[in-house]
Amino acid sequence: MRLSRMFMPTRKEDPADAEIASHKLLIRGGYVRQLTRGIYTFLPLGWKSVKKIQRIVREEMDAAGAQEILMPGVQPSELWQESGRWDDYGPELLRFEDRKGGEFCLGPTHEEVITDLVRGELNSYKQLPLNLYQIQTKFRDEPRARFGLLRGREFIMKDAYSFDLDEEGAEASYEQMYEAYGRICDRLGFDWSAVEADTGAIGGEKSHEFQVVTDTGEDKLVSCPDCGYAANIEKAQLPADGFEAPEAGDLESMETVETPGKTTIGEVCDFLGVEPTDCVKTLLYEVDDQAVAVLVRGDHAANDIKVRDFLRDQVGMEFATLEMADDGTVYDLTGASVGYAGPVGLDVPVYADNAVREMANFVVGANADDTHRRNVNWERDFDVEGFADLREAEAGDPCPECGTALETSRGIEVGHVFYLGTKYSDAMGASVQTDEGVDQSLIMGCYGMGITRILAAVAEQNHDEHGLIWPMPIAPYHATVLPLQMNSDEVVETGEEIYEELQEAGVEVMIDDRDEGVGAKFKDADLIGIPVRVAIGTRGLEDGNVELKLREEDDDELVPVDEVADRIVEIVEERGA
Ligand SMILES: [Zn+2]
Repeated sequence: MRLSRMFMPTRKEDPADAEIASHKLLIRGGYVRQLTRGIYTFLPLGWKSVKKIQRIVREEMDAAGAQEILMPGVQPSELWQESGRWDDYGPELLRFEDRKGGEFCLGPTHEEVITDLVRGELNSYKQLPLNLYQIQTKFRDEPRARFGLLRGREFIMKDAYSFDLDEEGAEASYEQMYEAYGRICDRLGFDWSAVEADTGAIGGEKSHEFQVVTDTGEDKLVSCPDCGYAANIEKAQLPADGFEAPEAGDLESMETVETPGKTTIGEVCDFLGVEPTDCVKTLLYEVDDQAVAVLVRGDHAANDIKVRDFLRDQVGMEFATLEMADDGTVYDLTGASVGYAGPVGLDVPVYADNAVREMANFVVGANADDTHRRNVNWERDFDVEGFADLREAEAGDPCPECGTALETSRGIEVGHVFYLGTKYSDAMGASVQTDEGVDQSLIMGCYGMGITRILAAVAEQNHDEHGLIWPMPIAPYHATVLPLQMNSDEVVETGEEIYEELQEAGVEVMIDDRDEGVGAKFKDADLIGIPVRVAIGTRGLEDGNVELKLREEDDDELVPVDEVADRIVEIVEERGA
């Protein structure tokens, strides 16, 4: 490809709304352009890499026995009514009507469509197991689209769905996909980890996320250095036992203290001379139209997923949405601004994290502006309706498997496998006849992988201050040829010869034949991150040499003109293009 003809609009400046490297560099390198919030066009470089990611994913899915299909993006509401998700899914589901008033959505996922497909076509256990997948554009109306391709609203995803007769078969299907995902992550060159995860809006009995480990990742992860346990922090369970209530004799009298303008735990601790572990945070949630208070120790963070599951499964509440109360609601409930809520005299059910059970004489908000209470004790001063594991795990917390101190890291989720069980097949009546002639619901699994998100995750893990550094298997081009002085016939001719030789050898190569200065050519080459660069200059040619440089290495190397193409072919092959 000739850069003089290529649509590769690079930019010097970072986009104003970009916070992380992958977002900045994919825009600046001319890989993608935003059309509107969270919706992107893939330019030639970006699309070439996306197609390479798709190829790797396809190869591994096919090798694992899955068969590719393509389902529609537009889905009728009737199917979502059947599964119950038309009501459950919330505002991320983009809904609309057609001209006849029929209700539809843009598919964020395809459990309903695939279940509808197979219930009409499968009738005997002999047709199982079956695994169907597609690579397709999805839409989720994210409230906070950001980080470029990492949290977009429209994105390309690979989704697979397995159907089995019994649990043993379904476990085997899950395992096959789990293994295939590991191979895909390896081929993409990721530093990755498979972690236990929440099943969220998809549902089901168990799931694992495939996380690309990076400091800028949105997901918090915990892992055990001893036994290999790893989980998304949303899912990481903490011990439920061993929390002793304090002795009654140790309780001191409650007092009210003025804390003007001190609304955070840090400010309150500094002002009162106490530690965060002496404080209890009172968090108010709106659960549909009811309010609930959740208490956690001052240095702990509440885990919204655990709160949601606890209220549903233990307390028995039924609700569609659970969110933190806004400032106005906090004021209505407590009579105070945010930062001064406390459980004493609060007229909503109070639940507390297990760690609060063993606390005595703690500090809480006093439900009045600029005021806190000291020496507060649960049971004596207020009722707790229930204790449970409601907080986020932290570094140093005990591993739920072996008790060793957990470590924390951050990750970008690129894949998610779910063991669904019969959630969709029961709801939608997808069954086959067993060999005894009995109708039995299909046992399902579903397996998602974010194709366009992978592009951003690779960029996030492979860049420096000058630009992107693509691993060979998904680089848009393997090599780039830079004739440095376009006014020298010798330089131009040598560049063209090397370019031609590489093309004939099957190397995907670009040549920067633009009439640009040396600095601009090097800058663009670094920015777009092609793995191999060969620069041809008048000085090197005096001795018959050109400069060969790998993007991931600092130093270049002088190589004789007639050897450089062979060297590049070797490098490309070694790195698994
Ligand atoms: Zn462990």
